[in-house]
Amino acid sequence: MQTLRGTKDILANEILFWRYIYNTALQVCSLYNYHEIQTPILELTSLFTKSIGNDTDIVNKEMYSFIDQGQRNITLRPEGTASVARSFITNKLYINNSSNKFWYLGPMFRYERPQSGRQRQFHQLGIECLGSAEPLADAEVIRIATKILHQLKLRNYKLEINSIGNLEERQKYQSELLIYLEKYKRDLDKDSQKRLKNNPLRILDSKDVKTQEILQKAPSLQMYLGKESQKHFSTLCNYLDAMDIEYNINEQLVRGLDYYNYTAFEIKCNELGSQDTICGGGRYDCLIKSLGGPDTASVGWAMGIERLLLIVKNRFQPIQIKPNIYIATKGMQAKLSIWPILDLLEEAQISFELDLQNNSFQKQLKKANKLGTSICLLIGDDEVNNNNITIKYLKEHKQKIISLNELIQELQKYSRTYQQTLTIHR
Ligand code: ATP
Ligand code: MG
Repeated sequence: MQTLRGTKDILANEILFWRYIYNTALQVCSLYNYHEIQTPILELTSLFTKSIGNDTDIVNKEMYSFIDQGQRNITLRPEGTASVARSFITNKLYINNSSNKFWYLGPMFRYERPQSGRQRQFHQLGIECLGSAEPLADAEVIRIATKILHQLKLRNYKLEINSIGNLEERQKYQSELLIYLEKYKRDLDKDSQKRLKNNPLRILDSKDVKTQEILQKAPSLQMYLGKESQKHFSTLCNYLDAMDIEYNINEQLVRGLDYYNYTAFEIKCNELGSQDTICGGGRYDCLIKSLGGPDTASVGWAMGIERLLLIVKNRFQPIQIKPNIYIATKGMQAKLSIWPILDLLEEAQISFELDLQNNSFQKQLKKANKLGTSICLLIGDDEVNNNNITIKYLKEHKQKIISLNELIQELQKYSRTYQQTLTIHR
């Protein structure tokens, strides 16, 4: 049996990394007073068509949409921002707070061609800062992204930023760009030719060499930015300079979602090959209003966890700490009598593996050795009748008989809470 194309199981050894990333996000975001939010994976399709935009790749060809039994048009969320914006409106979160700061980590779904760093079910860590139009908010969210990457020992990334202005400025620019590109229509790559009709701005981030050559002499979006847009952008640049966050201004950078305005940014890592963007974000001042909420200027980003893992995984050494105690039983009476022992172990936070097969002591001991525990408790008819426990020290090849009262004291020297951890090894 195979998993569906573009989906993956995350097994126990990988979970360590996921937990580490989750904990890092929790720690950094909490410092900045961002709160975790979990929105449903299922949303009405209209949420995404309205927010992401009909002429985008996501809505055009990547959404997992279906009609449910109640004839509703449903989509598995392809990204998190629209859902957070919807939740902000649904729960009237704007009533008490002037600014709302959220973070999330969860699965997203896009029907794309699977390849390294590109899956159909993938995970995004994202933050959204709702309620501030100030460049300070853009600076804060970018700073948080860099802090998280640093905590994950990722330093060799590049931050690219751009301003895509407001809608009016973009429309003006777009018509000029169109006039220019029409002249080279036949030389553009196929995707860009299609985009001429419905999303010409996206041509700017075409990877095609010939298209890029043509774009070199195209009018620049920067020339069409008004005073406000320019000021917002230069203030953000000043903040980044003040924080010593390095960045490149990439005038070709436009994001694939319609709801962005002013700031757009991406964080790239060249260790990733062609799927080199780990984080993408920007400002979306009109999104919440367009979904029926109050005017709420906002900014945020999303990071692809699978891509992040491709880079940071080899910087960490997973350590699996085994349970210390193995519990072997023989016979019904023994099985009935072990529960007070488990109570004691739980209370003392001593980890254990209870053998769940009905095998001989010999076989159970073999399994305890294989698992690498240092102690095995044996409870059979003799132990039940005499109200004691046989304790076997597997490494020392010794054993002794103790009472239930003595158990915890005896085990305490060996106790180690069962935990799985990661250590950083470079
Ligand atoms: P790309 O250009 O790589 O398709 P995108 O612009 O569609 O990215 P966003 O919607 O901005 O991506 O999502 C933010 C981040 O989520 C990306 O930078 C990437 O790390 C991750 N991501 C997006 N799509 C996928 C996918 N199909 N599989 C794995 N990660 C993804
Ligand atoms: Mg994409």
